[in-house]
Amino acid sequence: MHRFLAEDHAQFDKILENTLSEANRFLAEVDRLPVGTISPPNIEEINISDEGIGALETLDVFKERYASWMSGSAGPRYYGFVTGGVTPAALAGDWLTSVYDQNSLGSDESIAPQIELDTIALLRQLFGLPDDYTGSFVTGATMSNFVGLALARQWIGHQRGVDFSKKGLWGMEPIKIFSGTPHSSIYKSLSMLGMGREAIISIPCLPNREAIDVSILEGFLENQNDQPCIVVANAGTVNTVDFDDLIAITALKTRYKFWLHVDAAFGGFAACSPKYRSLVQGMELADSITIDAHKWLNVPYDAAIQFTRHLGLQAEVFQNAAVYLEEDISSSNFVHLTPENSRRLRAMPSWFSLMAYGKEGYTEIVERNCQLAEWLGKEINRSEFFKLLAPVHLNGICFTFKVDKNTVSLNIIKEYLNMLKENGDVFLTPTVYQGIPAIRISIANWRTTQKDVEIAWQAMQEEIGEYI
Ligand SMILES: *Cc1c(COP(=O)(O)O)cnc(C)c1O
Repeated sequence: MHRFLAEDHAQFDKILENTLSEANRFLAEVDRLPVGTISPPNIEEINISDEGIGALETLDVFKERYASWMSGSAGPRYYGFVTGGVTPAALAGDWLTSVYDQNSLGSDESIAPQIELDTIALLRQLFGLPDDYTGSFVTGATMSNFVGLALARQWIGHQRGVDFSKKGLWGMEPIKIFSGTPHSSIYKSLSMLGMGREAIISIPCLPNREAIDVSILEGFLENQNDQPCIVVANAGTVNTVDFDDLIAITALKTRYKFWLHVDAAFGGFAACSPKYRSLVQGMELADSITIDAHKWLNVPYDAAIQFTRHLGLQAEVFQNAAVYLEEDISSSNFVHLTPENSRRLRAMPSWFSLMAYGKEGYTEIVERNCQLAEWLGKEINRSEFFKLLAPVHLNGICFTFKVDKNTVSLNIIKEYLNMLKENGDVFLTPTVYQGIPAIRISIANWRTTQKDVEIAWQAMQEEIGEYI
């Protein structure tokens, strides 16, 4: 055995102790760390050494080279995208995932697929989904949308009497996908799936909303003359956190032939609170659903769930060996159900967090985050510097500078946000909403308290004078 491998093998405990103390250092600071990246002065070129340096020395080099530049994006004042942090229980689960290093592909060699199956059951209960939904963990909501749309594609094939998983899409009539305000990852998924980004047909939304006008959608569906198509409904848009009327859309299923995919990446968490649950009513009738875990579930990156009630189609698309079709389809035979073959047991952090905090823990996180967004939205709305571009929905705020003449430029907004990032008190992301350059805030971290949004609000006002 190589010298350093042997040495490290003999001192695992020491390596883990040193790693633990670095983890403790970071976790003690994360609430106060600058929320955006700060660039290191001049980072030297990196070279692989011939002999290696062993794990302890490597940890030291790592700390020196990178650790002090880690951003506080897992902390309480990072409001970019809709990503959350990591609950203590989720972190425990994540560490052990690598310790156990199990392959969750569904062989009978390990308990791993059972843990994933159990986690899916816990999530089904958290979201109030019926038992006939099966699911699996993928790396993020983008991949979950990819899987949902892959099933939709296969279903269209069945309707047309072709097995797309065998024949491909060569020479086929294009597939039509209708949606109001789809997330960018829907386009990316369609590109990866060979259906094409341009297959999306944008359906107009209700006035001043990001929610689809269902009567217009119905017109389009009627014009399909019974040709099967796909509808992507959005439960939680990223700019204004708007929800399509899922009850009205699912009602159309009795009259028209379409696959309903619901992208509920973070909006699905409305189901955790009796206050907001009605927003996702109807979701339980979808053919496929996307839920992100590294957003509001507050587990580390690399986790989302795809749900469906069409396990058979899933096995057709993702089967890894034809022999399989002769066996029973089981919902834990993940190797035949997911894009990957060998896969990390990425359900573990979610299992730990769901067990540790239960339904009420998640109700509390969701309601607290929403309440803080509401408070901040009110402050923004009555300030002389800013104006809301949409009412505050759930945990999201969309606003811009209050200026008399025309609109503010996206560049000025970016400069302002950059200044906030450099100051380190709050991280926000720029966007364009209805043609207006804007800013969005999304509060999804379990650590965020009233004190944090007050610090953020203070920082937002302090130097705005320079920009408007
Ligand atoms: C974040 C998000 C996605 C993409 O999620 P990733 O985890 O970044 O892949 C897709 N849809 C919606 C609605 C989202 O908010």
